[in-house]
Amino acid sequence: MPRQPLKNIAITLSLLALAAPLAANESEDEDGRHVAPASADQAAPPAEDPDGPPARRDDHRADDNRDGAESHPAATGETGAEPATPPAPDPVAPLELLGQSVPVGTFDTLYWTPDQSFRSIATPVPVLVAHGTRPGPHLCLTAAVHGDELNGIEMVRRLMYELEPDELAGTVVGVPIVNLDGFRNGSRYLSDRRDLNRYFPGRKNGSAASRVAYSLFENIVRHCDYLVDLHTGSQKRVNQPQLRADLENPQVVAFAKHFGGMTVLHSPSSSGMLRAAAVDQGIVAVTMEAGGPNRLEDDAVDYGVQALETLLENLDMRKASRFWGAPQPVFYESEWIRAGQGGILLSEVELNDQVKKGQILGTVTDPISNTGSAIIAPYDGRVLGMAVNQVVHAGFAAYRIGEEKSAEEVEAKAEQAQEQGDADGDDENTGAGASAEESDRPDGDTE
Ligand SMILES: [Zn+2]
Repeated sequence: MPRQPLKNIAITLSLLALAAPLAANESEDEDGRHVAPASADQAAPPAEDPDGPPARRDDHRADDNRDGAESHPAATGETGAEPATPPAPDPVAPLELLGQSVPVGTFDTLYWTPDQSFRSIATPVPVLVAHGTRPGPHLCLTAAVHGDELNGIEMVRRLMYELEPDELAGTVVGVPIVNLDGFRNGSRYLSDRRDLNRYFPGRKNGSAASRVAYSLFENIVRHCDYLVDLHTGSQKRVNQPQLRADLENPQVVAFAKHFGGMTVLHSPSSSGMLRAAAVDQGIVAVTMEAGGPNRLEDDAVDYGVQALETLLENLDMRKASRFWGAPQPVFYESEWIRAGQGGILLSEVELNDQVKKGQILGTVTDPISNTGSAIIAPYDGRVLGMAVNQVVHAGFAAYRIGEEKSAEEVEAKAEQAQEQGDADGDDENTGAGASAEESDRPDGDTE
């Protein structure tokens, strides 16, 4: 049953209008491909087998019938109830997390202490928890893994403090500022200058960064069914607000469809990224990118919060006051188009423009010799990310052009990749994927 169709369309249109100028983003230097969850430890949600998994999780496995769904109740066991596998939902128990116990139907602030430094001076990192009264999934939100990415911090605050635990099915865990050191220094990095988002799932006895990653992963992430890692861009490039998701994983595809109309960019996750490590452990994860670093952008924050509200609605965790009911996400494969020479880059297109094959995206001119060249769109597509005007070197990733894919195409490809992965047991795939990833790896621009 369509819900508030007119209102939703209006909201969507205005959000789409807002989306275009939103700033900056980073892209990712990705290389690895992470196929199906292999580790079936107790925290891992089910992969393919909807009958096997714990009751808490299985009925929240993302199905794509969001629109057709008549406001189905949030109880567990609803979808899989007909076959003779009626897992009685576990009664909701107090949440045991970080050595503390959160009673059912309450909101609490816990503290996570990554113990890689002097214990006596270690700063506990606040973790917000809303533990619902009804059974449901555990959704985790992490923000500021890069300490200078502020929009996600505000998204977590807004979302967490609008939750009413006694109305909630499942549990929402929000870590507003994962990298507290970086945040205090206004820096993307940890205090040892390492990028935390390259060290997951971390090692207990590894480098400082690896230990922080390990501590977060073991103490919090492992307890999640779903994870949304909130990021913003880096300077020098701007992006559409978007999800980054490994669309070769069917569970991730289904999950990505729960965020309303938010653009979804296929982005094979590279080794060390939080979402990659989570997916490897069977925790369905995406990255959300919105806005740029070192600033708080209300439009980007609001857009992201609405997408998260829609997610909660679609996971049957609560009835949201607003959500995107009607629009479907648009899936993209993308490629970075690079400058053929060094010089002054001046763009002729804007973010979110539709471009045609052969169209000039921008020009690069050598300021000394006055020789220049154009950067040309190699295929029809949409500008999902682009560099701001600046001095570039040859090979600089200047425009991220997305080629739209239908949901059916994406799903079919994911199934195929899954089957192939299962058959090969090998995630170093050959063929188109490898070269696409290579060309998709922008310089110094990371998720
Ligand atoms: Zn980031």
